[in-house]
Amino acid sequence: MRISAALLLFVSCQTVFAAGSGLDARAEKTAERLRDDAMRGSRAYEIVESLTTEVGPRMGGSEAYDRATAWAQAKFKALGYDKVWLQPVTFPVWQRHSESARVVSPFPQRLVLTALGGSESTRGDLRAEVVEFADLEALKAVPDGTLAGKIAFVNLKMLRAKDGSGYGPVSNVRRTGASEAARKGASALLIRSVGTDSDRLPHTGMMKYEDGVAKIPAAALSVPDADLLANMLRRGKPVTVEMNIQAGFTGSKTEYNVIGEITGRSKPSEVVVIGGHLDSWDLGTGAIDDGAGVAITMAAGALIGDLKQAPKRSIRVVAFANEEQGLLGGKAYAEAMKDAMPSHQLGAESDFGAGRIYALYAGVSAGSRPVIEHIGTLLAPLGIALQASGGSAGPDLGPSVPYGLPWAELQQDGTDYFDYHHTANDTLDKVNAKDLDQQVAAYAVLAYMAAETAVDIAPEPPKTQP
Ligand SMILES: [Zn+2]
Repeated sequence: MRISAALLLFVSCQTVFAAGSGLDARAEKTAERLRDDAMRGSRAYEIVESLTTEVGPRMGGSEAYDRATAWAQAKFKALGYDKVWLQPVTFPVWQRHSESARVVSPFPQRLVLTALGGSESTRGDLRAEVVEFADLEALKAVPDGTLAGKIAFVNLKMLRAKDGSGYGPVSNVRRTGASEAARKGASALLIRSVGTDSDRLPHTGMMKYEDGVAKIPAAALSVPDADLLANMLRRGKPVTVEMNIQAGFTGSKTEYNVIGEITGRSKPSEVVVIGGHLDSWDLGTGAIDDGAGVAITMAAGALIGDLKQAPKRSIRVVAFANEEQGLLGGKAYAEAMKDAMPSHQLGAESDFGAGRIYALYAGVSAGSRPVIEHIGTLLAPLGIALQASGGSAGPDLGPSVPYGLPWAELQQDGTDYFDYHHTANDTLDKVNAKDLDQQVAAYAVLAYMAAETAVDIAPEPPKTQP
């Protein structure tokens, strides 16, 4: 008796839920089947293994990126996508040629560093005394000209966090530190790597020069080398470092976002867009950043493509070009699609490594929220909890949001992401196949239900400017 009452309540709740979400019991069954199939074993690991083995590092502007493009086109076709096409993006090419550094005095020994993306070269060997700063604010606080003929060294430690929240303040040092140091007269910038590891492997990443400020070379020391340099400086004697960075911009190149689509059965011109970025840095093989994201979303789309009946709307998977050097593929997508943005039902991007998903966020209108809530009930068995607010569309889809893209975020556990991020250690052994399956399950449910619902998902109203 008690059981049947509970069952009745359960059934009526489900019906009410389904009504608001525009999804019926059949759609829900299909989504559950996608989820459970993915959990039994998806193709994501096989895809990221293929990309890291057959292409490897594929920095924006490199010949290797062209091989990655051909790889992605072939992979989409092999996975049964109906349409595969390229979307161009042109940008200046930055290259790393060589990099080395050593302490000249008082304790001569080698230092391990890597040039930041976008850095200029040193003119031959650059030899100068090092001045340490705890953070960017300390550097900004010294009078202009103070650092004439010196190397500024910003030694700000990154804190480990599941949600990656330690990255923002420290990556700001990487992005803007060189121009701040140049304003004070410095001839080069050294930073502590933006990372949470203690490996002797430095973390690269993009930096940008401010217009009208001298362009000085900028590099990241590995975390143990930053500690080493700080220990020398603590002894109170001047520390002289010699560094030699050969890098810089040469000409421009056109590369491509690679796009695969599963055609919708009744509203083919409306799309759910998912994806990751195809480019990587040059130091590792780009397994977690962002081979995993490409593999997860390609595999999720392919799983939906294998259904006997496609969802109402199309599923579009984008392998974005050159995210690392300024979200260039994402900006190109937004620009090319801005007039077509109203036909975008939902966007979600995977670019935070290979760790399991634990939270779902969405940026949609209040009226569309029941769809997300219904999706949340199907993701709960995967250990994914729907959040009332917060989240973001991600780096590559972010540029589409001002044009009206409704978005969802499936947040991954990034506890160890910044141990490997942008280093030579970003390799396939950091990727766990079962963790990828959980993510494919989540993306397949999200994309399928968003593509199948009777509700046209509307974007979040724009935040009013203060
Ligand atoms: Zn990335």
